[in-house]
Amino acid sequence: MKSDIHPEYHNIMATCACGNEFELGSVVDEMKVEICSACHPFFTGKQKLVDTAGRIEKFNQRYAKHFSEKETDKA
Ligand SMILES: [Zn+2]
Repeated sequence: MKSDIHPEYHNIMATCACGNEFELGSVVDEMKVEICSACHPFFTGKQKLVDTAGRIEKFNQRYAKHFSEKETDKA
């Protein structure tokens, strides 16, 4: 292995959006993740919407009128 061309690999604490912290090895000083093994639906067994940017909410607001109009058409 050549010297001085490799970034330093060390253990850091990664922070998840759910508040969980866990140690991992990386070359960066800190890491933030949106999902981890503590909150991922695969591990929790619960249905969960991963919507950190509020995109689903924006979509629903945008089309709320459209959807309510459609429902009144049907009735
Ligand atoms: Zn998490």
